[in-house]
Amino acid sequence: MIDTHMHADARSSEDFELMFQSGIDTAITCSYYPYRIPHEMILLNHLNRILELDTARARQYGLDLKVALGIHPTNSSINPESIFKQLYRWIDEKQIVAIGEIGLEDLTESEIDIFKKQLDIASETDSKVIIHTPRKNKPEVLKVILDIIPQHIDEKQAVIDHINQDVVNQAIDTDCMLGLTVQPQKMDKFEAISLLDEYGFDKFLLNSDISNKPSDPLSVPKTVRELKRQGYGKSDVEKVACKNAVEFFSL
Ligand SMILES: [Zn+2]
Repeated sequence: MIDTHMHADARSSEDFELMFQSGIDTAITCSYYPYRIPHEMILLNHLNRILELDTARARQYGLDLKVALGIHPTNSSINPESIFKQLYRWIDEKQIVAIGEIGLEDLTESEIDIFKKQLDIASETDSKVIIHTPRKNKPEVLKVILDIIPQHIDEKQAVIDHINQDVVNQAIDTDCMLGLTVQPQKMDKFEAISLLDEYGFDKFLLNSDISNKPSDPLSVPKTVRELKRQGYGKSDVEKVACKNAVEFFSL
């Protein structure tokens, strides 16, 4: 199984052990710094920490941690140039599987500028992007995101994450992949399954988004096991358990 979106820097060794023992072989950890960033060096240190420290911590427990780096919308109050420069290097050296998570939160001018620039970098380097959608004003913010994406990048290179019942209709007809985040306060496994049941298994990726907020490190295996228990076909279950992620991120 693959958990396609998490934040390993905010989690414990015990979580990594539990995830691996529950059948998660690979997880993708994304950047997000949950506190003020008075200087871009703080963010750069956060990104390097994920790349060097958290991957090694997870590996000790068998978990293969892939990395997505970028500037999260809530971290947009910085001078981004040095981070953009690093992104090219990380992509060139194949150290990251995507630019992420990026996206929009409050629709500020700097958020929108940094989001567009990161889409341009992804397009130029033929990289994938993991795009965050916010908890509040999700339909309104997603609309802006969906307007911006095709002006900067092929939709096939993007996964739009934290999609739920309220907004699925806005995104289902795009060429983007869609992320379902099974996390307390976001969506439970039954809601995720009802979306898969309604829209099919081809366009969706599953993740826990475990972070510094209330989280369940086993939400992906629990959802996959519930799909099996309810009798969904093996090939459909495999698509959201791992196949879609392997293909999309070329893992
Ligand atoms: Zn996240």
